[in-house]
Amino acid sequence: MLSLPVRRLHGPGPSPVAPAVLQALSLPCIGHMDPEFMRVMNEVREMLQQVFQTENQMTLACSGTGSAGAEMLMDNLVEPGDRCLIGVNGVFGGRLAEKARRAGGEVHTLEAEWGQVFETDRLLAEIERLQPTVVALVHAETSTGALQPFDQLAEAVHRHGGLLVMDCVTSLSGLPVLIDEWGIDAAYSGTQKCLSCPPGLSPVTLSPRAMEKVKRRRSKVNSWYLDLTLVGDYWSGSRAYHHTAPVNMNFALHEALRLVLEEGLEARFARHRQAHEQLKRGLLDRGFSYASDPDHSLPMLNLVNLPAAIADEAAVRRRLLDEFNLEIGGGLGKLAGKCWRIGLMGHGATEESVTAILDAIDAVLPAAG
Ligand SMILES: *Cc1c(COP(=O)(O)O)cnc(C)c1O
Repeated sequence: MLSLPVRRLHGPGPSPVAPAVLQALSLPCIGHMDPEFMRVMNEVREMLQQVFQTENQMTLACSGTGSAGAEMLMDNLVEPGDRCLIGVNGVFGGRLAEKARRAGGEVHTLEAEWGQVFETDRLLAEIERLQPTVVALVHAETSTGALQPFDQLAEAVHRHGGLLVMDCVTSLSGLPVLIDEWGIDAAYSGTQKCLSCPPGLSPVTLSPRAMEKVKRRRSKVNSWYLDLTLVGDYWSGSRAYHHTAPVNMNFALHEALRLVLEEGLEARFARHRQAHEQLKRGLLDRGFSYASDPDHSLPMLNLVNLPAAIADEAAVRRRLLDEFNLEIGGGLGKLAGKCWRIGLMGHGATEESVTAILDAIDAVLPAAG
């Protein structure tokens, strides 16, 4: 049988998976139309509603990773010719823009320096000017460590009949994601970040307003697999066979969500904050500096510039992996080779993890200690 080392996962995801989640993953497979699996789907939906803090009926785990959820929302919400405003301040904003373009949207991008966020006034002015049908932004940009405020945008978007879309792949269950309170119309996440589940499902939620847009579409959704009307009927209502849900991944997500709610969202957010503060102190002491806007830094993803003692960053990360089983992320896109991305996600956001990370860094960098 396949044999693998046990890694400490502190990159941009996947994150460490709790033993109970791995146990759920290895439960006996059952049929996807089995009444017991329907119960699992219902409970996954109810728990997702709690974690998203929403009453949206259309809340489900899209089959596929976070990128599938992003594509599900863009394919269903953007019709050919729809004007879209997409914030691009990192890799994932760029991907959202590309998905909206492929769906036929007339895409207008708003750019910001990597590591910075969009000021609310600037966003509101663009929304007034363009009156877009879809406004999409990344809440937690995993490529840059920046946290985008979302709480002041919905009113302006809705005033012109638009929809507000959020990528909360990295933030969900590590930071407050208040879908209903912030007036978010559609959001997608992923299982392998702060939910601490293996990759494979993408939680999505859509407001009644967003579903109204889907119902009124003039053209069919390009993707059959991600067509929300079909997938929605599979997850609720008629339970009509559409595709075969990854059964055991849904078991794993069920257990991951149960653990999140057992801990409590507020306690979980506080744990992520505390681990981040501890890591930040340790890194600053060792000559690292933060590369993201200090007022808008993510707790679960730390983007740092390297101390001068690190000349070949890829070789140092390789040593951390080989000698300490520690995975740390390199820079993505234009930050490749320049920065590290240190993840403290879900099950990995603990004092014990931070100590292990700092000890390993000390061991490979005695001069920087
Ligand atoms: C990880 C991530 C994605 C993509 O998710 P995949 O699971 O890799 O498909 C999208 N957006 C953000 C912000 C992410 O961190």
